[in-house]
Amino acid sequence: MYCIAIDLGGTIIKIGLVKGDEILEFTSFPAETDGLGSNLASMEAIINRLLSKWKVPKEEFSGVGLAFPGMVNPKEKKVTSTNDKYDDACDIDLSSWVYKNWEVAFIIDNDARLALAGEWHFGAGKDCRNMVMMTIGTGIGTGVVLDGRIINGNHYQAGSLGGHIIVDYRGRRCTCGNIGCVEAMASSFFLPEIIRTHPKISNEYKVKATHYDFKTLFGLMRQGEAEATLLCKECMDVWAAAIINYIHAYDPEIIVMGGGIMRSADIILPYIKERVDRLVWAPEYKVKIKPSLLGDNAALLGISYTLSTIKKEKYYEQIL
Ligand SMILES: [Zn+2]
Repeated sequence: MYCIAIDLGGTIIKIGLVKGDEILEFTSFPAETDGLGSNLASMEAIINRLLSKWKVPKEEFSGVGLAFPGMVNPKEKKVTSTNDKYDDACDIDLSSWVYKNWEVAFIIDNDARLALAGEWHFGAGKDCRNMVMMTIGTGIGTGVVLDGRIINGNHYQAGSLGGHIIVDYRGRRCTCGNIGCVEAMASSFFLPEIIRTHPKISNEYKVKATHYDFKTLFGLMRQGEAEATLLCKECMDVWAAAIINYIHAYDPEIIVMGGGIMRSADIILPYIKERVDRLVWAPEYKVKIKPSLLGDNAALLGISYTLSTIKKEKYYEQIL
């Protein structure tokens, strides 16, 4: 069966035609920044082009799935809360949009949870019964498999707010309104502020704060540059603290780390592993910490897997 998988990134929208664990073709384009509504026409055109180019027969088209960077109720197929991205999405009936255009099933979930589904079934967490995935991009997203099931919770928030657990209650104000979240203390979004407010960082660095991203900083750390090393180490300490919290909360056998940051996995993984092993309270085992195998494709493949589990007749009974 074929499906269309849409990954709504903060700045880029990625749409792929997927069959099982294979992405046959994908297109990425810069998102219009004034909401989801103004992107729907472009999305529609790309989906139609992919379906006709690959001559997808209607009976082999299982559905459309969407990975959303915010809180989602996958059962009601609704976005429930946004954070400065696609803020109109709560009011858009995406299920009807899909049904009107293609008459197929529609699924929607939090982007990090779908990336977890991808890594669990096709990637680094294959055959695991307990895993946590942490995706460090502009923000930080997480998803959790507990005893062989992806956890959802009462409001579908369980496991997905790992970027907003508190690592410093006296720390920086986060975009979510709380104080000292992992995301506020060590993410790309907050990096300029982290540099500007750091007491041990020089003014030459501070005036160029917006020029630095983690790729640059880890590159400088590799050359032995002192200030970049300090900044990178402090951020890795925050991520390690978050991972220790996840281990204490969920008792996983593996932590999978994904996102753009993994381009510097050669520095990040050994550093975090050493710190986690030394500080975590898990006497009987060492938790594996592995990089994502699917990279940017994790959410698209997670959608493909999730759609393959839907019982079609039951699905249409629900929506019609
Ligand atoms: Zn937060």
